[in-house]
Amino acid sequence: SGACMRRAHGKRLPQYLERGVDVKFTEVAGLGKIRLELEEIVKFFTHGEMYRRRGVKIPGGILLCGPPGVGKTLLAKAVAGEAGVNFFSISASQFVEIYVGVGASRVRSLYQEAKENAPSVVFIDELDAVGRERGLIKGSGGQERDATLNQLLVSLDGFEGRGNVITIASTNRPDILDPALVRPGRFDRKIYIPKPGLIGRMEILQVHARKKPMAEDVDYLAVAGMTDGMVGAELANIIEVAAINMMRNGRMEITTDDLLQAAQIEERGMLDRKERSPETWRQVAINEAATAVVAVNFPDLKNIEFVTIAPRAGRELGYVRMKMNHLKFKEGLLSRQSLLDHITVQLAPRAADELWYGEGQEIDSEALRIVNRSYERAKEILQCNQNLMNAVVNELVEKKSLTKQEFLHLVELHGNLQPMPPSI
Ligand code: ADP
Repeated sequence: SGACMRRAHGKRLPQYLERGVDVKFTEVAGLGKIRLELEEIVKFFTHGEMYRRRGVKIPGGILLCGPPGVGKTLLAKAVAGEAGVNFFSISASQFVEIYVGVGASRVRSLYQEAKENAPSVVFIDELDAVGRERGLIKGSGGQERDATLNQLLVSLDGFEGRGNVITIASTNRPDILDPALVRPGRFDRKIYIPKPGLIGRMEILQVHARKKPMAEDVDYLAVAGMTDGMVGAELANIIEVAAINMMRNGRMEITTDDLLQAAQIEERGMLDRKERSPETWRQVAINEAATAVVAVNFPDLKNIEFVTIAPRAGRELGYVRMKMNHLKFKEGLLSRQSLLDHITVQLAPRAADELWYGEGQEIDSEALRIVNRSYERAKEILQCNQNLMNAVVNELVEKKSLTKQEFLHLVELHGNLQPMPPSI
């Protein structure tokens, strides 16, 4: 049948080849210096002879490490695109089959094809699916996976130093890979792709905006500022959603506002338009206003990006987006004072409930002295800022959402901020 006919024409059609891969490095944004490392991999193809003559070993495989959506696949394609070589890809989860021998035979065919069509990049997505340390999985599934992993090791060794087939694999868990995989000559080069920072996010948005009719005055930095923590895949999606919004409104250009709305949808889902009682809205407004009003007093939390009671499907009714210093947070660099400030902000809605509705919530354990004290602080701040609270609540009830500028304007008009928060 099909297979026989193809053979009759001479060559078998490669199964794992992705045709028409023409990605260039200019399409991958926000990587900074990491790009240089990838440009070097391109040189292994284009200047392979030079490396070999000077006795420089070409890595057997390159491991791109990082969370989903940061552009690992895109980068692997860009390496192939820039070098002008074939791109073969497979997801390692496809290796893991219930029938013994299937995974190993797929690895064999993949490399067979890559070799026949060299020079080529072999891209293995989610390497950890098959590359987990051996012996961690019990039963026959484990045996099958071991056979696949062994075949992969054999295939990698077959290309050592040759440089006409280079394997790039992606993983979010380099720490759990079988040590045999990362030995010299195999995946001996690791490149970490982190989530993009502010400028990186701006550049990624701009790259994807190139293909769309953008208004001239689009404020990419503002959108980047609202998308803290997002990866390239999410940012690309924001541009798509904004384009749909433009079409829906019969406009010709994508505006900053389209992008900001799309960013909110990306982060929190579609608007939830369910009817709720005015009393409910008021209570939600009080909670969110209290959070924002207390937070704006504290150095690490005062960066309010927006306050809203326009709920998103399946999410909480209201929301305050604060720009936090994630790096400091992750590295444990937040001061004790700053941590206490976080606690205080968490307690602000309860404190507001007590002040506005008289429903006190006693926190009665002695061990919770800090919580109690933080709670008192939240209350004190709210009491000093009753005018600001009223203004924010009223605006929220009326307009549903406040931008950073609108919120800060109210703070300027009615706020009574504490110069230095008292310590606990
Ligand atoms: P990963 O392999 O890390 O999970 P992908 O490469 O599949 O991520 O990214 C999915 C899509 O997101 C890409 O095709 C691209 O449209 C977009 N994207 C991700 N990272 C970037 C980036 N750094 N620059 C430009 N676009 C990106």
